[in-house]
This record gives sequence, C-alpha cells and structure tokens, in this order.
Amino acid sequence: MRFFENVAKEIFNKEGIPILEGHVANYPEEAMTISSEMGVPVVVKAQVLTGGRGKAGGVKFANNPGEALKVSEEILGMEIKGEKVKHLLIEEKAEILNEFFVTVSVDRGARRPVILASNEGGVEIENLAKTNPEKIIKYYPNPLIDFLPYEAREIARKMGVSSELISPIGDIIWKLYNVFKKYDADTAEINPLVSTPNGVIAADAKLVVENDSLFRHQDLVEKLHYKQKAVDFVQLDGDIAVIGNGAGLTLTAMDMIKLNGGEPATFLDIGGGASEHIINQALSIVLNYDRVKVVFLNVLGGITKADDVARGVIKALEGAERKVPIVIRLTGTNEEEGQKILDEAGIPFEVSMEKAAKKAVELCEEIKAKGK
Ligand code: GDP
Ligand code: MN
Repeated sequence: MRFFENVAKEIFNKEGIPILEGHVANYPEEAMTISSEMGVPVVVKAQVLTGGRGKAGGVKFANNPGEALKVSEEILGMEIKGEKVKHLLIEEKAEILNEFFVTVSVDRGARRPVILASNEGGVEIENLAKTNPEKIIKYYPNPLIDFLPYEAREIARKMGVSSELISPIGDIIWKLYNVFKKYDADTAEINPLVSTPNGVIAADAKLVVENDSLFRHQDLVEKLHYKQKAVDFVQLDGDIAVIGNGAGLTLTAMDMIKLNGGEPATFLDIGGGASEHIINQALSIVLNYDRVKVVFLNVLGGITKADDVARGVIKALEGAERKVPIVIRLTGTNEEEGQKILDEAGIPFEVSMEKAAKKAVELCEEIKAKGK
C-alpha cells in the first residue's frame, strides 16, 4: 500500500527526518489561502500515487498567492498516468543546492533489505541506473542485527558527497532505514534529498507498506484516503453561501434559506471539531466566489467550540479582500465566550437558526435591490 507524499513526509518527520512546512489543499482557493498564510514562495505538488509527477507537470512553483491559485487550477485538472489529481501539497519552496537519492527496499533475489543511494538524485534517477549504474551505491544491512549510524555515514561517504554533508546525510539514511523497519515497509524513499542553505531536507517522500502488515499500522490506515480532509464542499447556483458544522446541520441551514425564498450558493461542511484554521479556510473559499452576496454560517457547538469559530471568523474577515456581509448563528459549547468575541469585533450574530436564515435572505434581497 502506497501512501501519499504528505503522509509519508509526516511519518519520516516523526522519525526525525527534516521536511519543509506544507499543507494539503483540495481546491485552488484553499491553496491560495495556504500560500498567503505561509507568506513564502511555494511548491504546488499533485498528490497522486505514481511517481514522475515532476516530468508530467504535476510539480509547479508559485511566488505569491495569485500564482498559487493559478497553478493549483492547472494541476487539479490534470491526470497523471491515469490518476486524477484531487489533492495538492502546498509546501515551502526549498532553495536547492544539490539533489541526492536514497531508497530502502527489499531485494527479493537476495531476500534482504537493500539501501540504494546516489549523489545524483532527482527526476532522472531511472536513466542514471541505466547509463551510470556505478553512480548508485548499493549496501546490504544485516537485517538480523542493528544498522549502525557509522554504516550509514559510510554510505554517504561512498556517495561522494562533500565532507560537511557526510554526517547529516548519513543521519537521514540511518533514520530512513529505521522508518523502513518500524513500518514494515516495502519501500521508503527520498528523491530528491536536497541540500539547502538551511540544511539537508527530504523534498519528496515515498512510503510503501507491505499489505500483509497493515493490520499492525492502524494509525497509517486512517490516513489512507484523506478522510480527515478539511471541508466538504459543493458549489450551487444561488447567492447565499451556506457553511455549517456537520452535514445535517448544513443541509438544514440550506433548507431554511430556501424556505425564506433564498438560494444557497454553497454547501460547505466544516465537520465536527472544526478549528479556527478550518473556519478561516472555509470562509476564504466562499468569499472567493463572485456570486456569493451573503454568507450564512450556521454553527451549533458540540465538539466544535464557539469561541474557536468566532476567532476564525474574525481572522478570515480581516484577511479577506472582498467584503461580504456575514450572518452567524452561534450557539453551543463556549457560546458565551464566542458571542463576546463577536460582539467586541462588532460582528452581529443570532442564537436562533430560523432568525439567522431569515436575516441572511433579507440581507441578500436588500443587496440585490441596490443592484450591487
Ligand atoms: P516526482 O517527479 O514525482 O518525483 O516529484 P518530486 O517531488 O521529486 O519533484 C520533482 C522535482 O521538482 C525535484 O526533483 C526537484 O528538482 C523539483 N522540486 C521539488 N520540490 C522543490 C523545491 O522545494 N524547490 C525546488 N527548487 N525544486 C523542487
Ligand atoms: Mn521525486
């Protein structure tokens, strides 16, 4: 079972391998928000379960949120080797000095794990294996005893990396082998492993776990299909953006809008336990749709805390380029705290969903009557 790059990176990082800050985006607008929050040039990477994305155009750079939006739109529409791109990893762009390659896999013929490494990593590794196989170092650790850090440094030395990189690269090779063992992997690979002015970093990550061992790694299985993706989102034809926590509550909010003669522009479920960041992201998504004239946010706090929601709303409205009136229904866990935060920021709210829905529709009618 192969895992998406962002999951592989999370696991590598847990074992001490350095990576760069990155976040998953499911829509171009989300990518834009993430890029603006990160505030640095980013790499936008298709999350698919095949290699060769770079060559297929699935890895692109963006210097600002606008560019992030544009390249995300391009990549999300792509198919890479028959696989539709549904998710992106938005990652801080590394300033690459050199690209290396290291992989730990099983040599079925030799029936032992093998480490392959080269100081010529990157997208041409397959060609290198054909044209210059001597540039790929091959090492068989003894699977019956511990793989020692000095063995890993010896591999780095044989790769021919400059002397100051022997220790950091050796360290990463050693940690990668430990990931391979700990997770019953079939392959644990970093290509490219890159040297940057800020150290050696895994710029890509591949993790394939033996299917027969998956039962031992339930924590991994849960990460398989982006189940925990930030928001569930459907675009509709109306002009009132509906956001709610939980599918049922969001659908009810849509019904309420319709009952009052309004038309929903979105169905956006932020799920239970939605954090400040997710609320912020959800609002950024809907505010980016021109057709949205009013936002109706329907939150009944359970796991979701009303004060987190309030803070997320304020943050999103501050950062928004387009000002759209928002009607909030906010009750439940920590409601007093949440309502106080909104009050202080001068953002109106309602406790009753009926009242809030009616208000949203009236507001929308007013705006349309003014011809805005
Ligand atoms: P793959 O083609 O599917 O293996 O995707 P990779 O994640 O390996 O990216 C392909 C290539 O894009 C890498 O070999 C790098 O040359 C380049 N690349 C990826 N991330 C970065 C980055 O953060 N900075 C720079 N400058 N290049 C990157
Ligand atoms: Mn790669």
